Amino acid sequence: MYANIIVDISHEQLDRTFQYRVPKDMENILEVGSQVVIPFGKGNRRITGYVIELTEKAEFDENRIKEICSIEQQAVAVESQMIRLAAWIRHQYGSTMIQALKTVMPVKEKVKSVEKTFYHLEVSKTQAEAILEEARRKHFSARVRFLEALLEEEILSREIAVKQLHITAATIHPLIELGIIREEKEIAYRGGMQKYDSEHKKISLHERQKQIVNDICRRYDSEDFKPCLIHGITGSGKTEVYMEIMEHVIAKGKSVIVLIPEIALTYQTVMRFYKRFGNRVSLVNSRLSAGEKYDQFMRAKRGEIDIMIGPRSALFTPFSNLGLIVIDEEHENAYKSEYMPRYHARETAIERMKISGGMVIMGSATPSMEAYFRAQTGEYRLYQMDRRASKGSELSAVHVIDLREELKNGNKSIFSRTLHEMICERLSKKEQVILFLNRRGYSGFVSCRQCGKPIGCPHCDVSLTAHRNGRLVCHYCGYQIPMPKVCPSCHSPYIAGFGLGTQKVETLAAAAFPGARILRMDMDTTSKKGSHEEILSRFAAGEADILVGTQMIVKGHDFKNVTLVGILAADMSLYAGDYKSSEKTFQLLTQAAGRAGRGEKHGDVVIQTYTPEHYSIQMAQRQDYEGFYKQEMMYRKMLKYPPAGFLLQLLLTSPYEEKAKNLINEYAALIQKQYNGMIDTIGPVDAPISKIKDTYRKLLYMKSNRMEWLIEAKDLIETKFQEDTLGRSASIQFDFN
Ligand code: ADP
Ligand code: ZN
Ligand code: ZN
Repeated sequence: MYANIIVDISHEQLDRTFQYRVPKDMENILEVGSQVVIPFGKGNRRITGYVIELTEKAEFDENRIKEICSIEQQAVAVESQMIRLAAWIRHQYGSTMIQALKTVMPVKEKVKSVEKTFYHLEVSKTQAEAILEEARRKHFSARVRFLEALLEEEILSREIAVKQLHITAATIHPLIELGIIREEKEIAYRGGMQKYDSEHKKISLHERQKQIVNDICRRYDSEDFKPCLIHGITGSGKTEVYMEIMEHVIAKGKSVIVLIPEIALTYQTVMRFYKRFGNRVSLVNSRLSAGEKYDQFMRAKRGEIDIMIGPRSALFTPFSNLGLIVIDEEHENAYKSEYMPRYHARETAIERMKISGGMVIMGSATPSMEAYFRAQTGEYRLYQMDRRASKGSELSAVHVIDLREELKNGNKSIFSRTLHEMICERLSKKEQVILFLNRRGYSGFVSCRQCGKPIGCPHCDVSLTAHRNGRLVCHYCGYQIPMPKVCPSCHSPYIAGFGLGTQKVETLAAAAFPGARILRMDMDTTSKKGSHEEILSRFAAGEADILVGTQMIVKGHDFKNVTLVGILAADMSLYAGDYKSSEKTFQLLTQAAGRAGRGEKHGDVVIQTYTPEHYSIQMAQRQDYEGFYKQEMMYRKMLKYPPAGFLLQLLLTSPYEEKAKNLINEYAALIQKQYNGMIDTIGPVDAPISKIKDTYRKLLYMKSNRMEWLIEAKDLIETKFQEDTLGRSASIQFDFN
């Protein structure tokens, strides 16, 4: 037996492995991740390395392969844990070991200290408040934002002022010159947050929160580490629960990772953790450079911090004493990696805690079908919270408007009469409105404006997608028809795509509500880093009456003055052409509805739709998660879609179409033969985008009752592929569920 070993994992060249012989007496104890001592180089200097692969194949002349000296059994270094995690990722999701290692280990880059700038108040709080009042009167909105934050926090780093609050030198310098604030410099690590000593006022938990905290902490103490799922409506106080449990875990000398999707990772959210845990918290996000992220990871490794907050990749923070991973908004798509290896943060977090001994706590107002299913089967422990935490903040009333009726009554505008009236009323009361355009997974489906039915695939129960050549295509099985002239169900000629964009909505809203101040937030307005947050904070500060946006606006901000949310075309995501469309629609509608009435005032939600009878819309109206889950699960079971079964997608790409076709057909046949009765294959078909940069893209779907069979099938195809394509003229990618 031979071991492939890496000797320096902080090195840029993770791919550099060295092969050693495994002595007989080590064969049974050596495993992937083991820390070993090896003779290295010409002088056989003794150095430490890590086993990343065990194999029976010698990579060069057997007689020249040196032997491992010894194995370090005491120290379970964090590196060993991460290598084991990488091996699991490779096995579970399909990729090379190197790709998996690069995913779990940040590569070292040159570290350079930078000078940090901080701002303090130079005047008393009372004086500062008077200045703030004056700024408000004069509508100096940047100055207002800056002073409000300073009054709250006492110290602000330049980074936060500039990147999060969008304050520029034009605002800062006059304040320094007037002696209202003072500037200070300090050498610091790059990135991360700086210390504050603002005193944190602890909220006293309500009864339900206490029960959950006590139960989880008690189980934690007895090392019952079953993953927990907290299903709690928006505003029910989940975050307070996480923080309480985190405190408990940290008191035991452990550290914690908190995953929050990037779009919900706002200043407001981060501040809550920061106020509670002070400078033992660090933050990584996509705005940090690779070097900055590396610095923060090294601080974690040295034990300088207890908590790391960040999106998906924060999962790999190298804490050596990790005791808890919290995953907020567990249902978010962003938890699935879009690059190889296409790991899911939920499953990977659970595996990481299995390796290091600790718990995973997930929370959501609308748990994913997978998580809730596992909670039902007892694999996760389920906790429910069904009331809002702060007093006087009640759930909003949800109204569903049938757009077919509006059309019948001659209203061709995008605003139903109800929504129009409600917006006018809010504007007159100086309350705020969010208009939400649901474009998630918008795939160019075609539907009937009279009967509301989309044109679907007779074989797969997903909607067909309009292609530029005028044909409608199923993305799962390849079924195609020419664009029909009349609706197949009711024969009306009003069939059309759903091509409404946010910009159009903004224009139409400006025309319908003259004088209203409108802000827009979508991919176009937020392509610049930080602009997303800027729009949200401007809206929160009352700089506009109406915010128009896509799914980005539904997360991470508490808008106290928003009392109306209008969802313009709820159906859009219903026909996204994948098996999760109903789930995503229900989640989006429920989350959007949760945005209204978070303050003291009563909130309304208007859902406009062509299919008011659809269960995901009905259940969202009733805010009935349980009801939705039951109905959706029936559908998943019937069609064996996850979580009732398992699904594997194989993507094969090649610049030679013939080759791509032959290979994927060959694999389909192979799986049909070897896994007859165990795995169903669907396709092969062209990918939705069938060619990118002259590379052809083919898909094969495999469905099974058992995940292990799909993993085996993946390994089989992988092996076969390596034998087939010596010329590297094709590549493959796997995607589970
Ligand atoms: P979630 O994470 O479920 O959306 P949060 O923890 O953010 O809920 O709580 C929603 C709001 O209610 C926050 O403003 C929070 O400060 C407040 N809150 C939470 N728990 C309590 C409590 N026990 N008493 C008073 N207010 C609370
Ligand atoms: Zn019709
Ligand atoms: Zn089909």
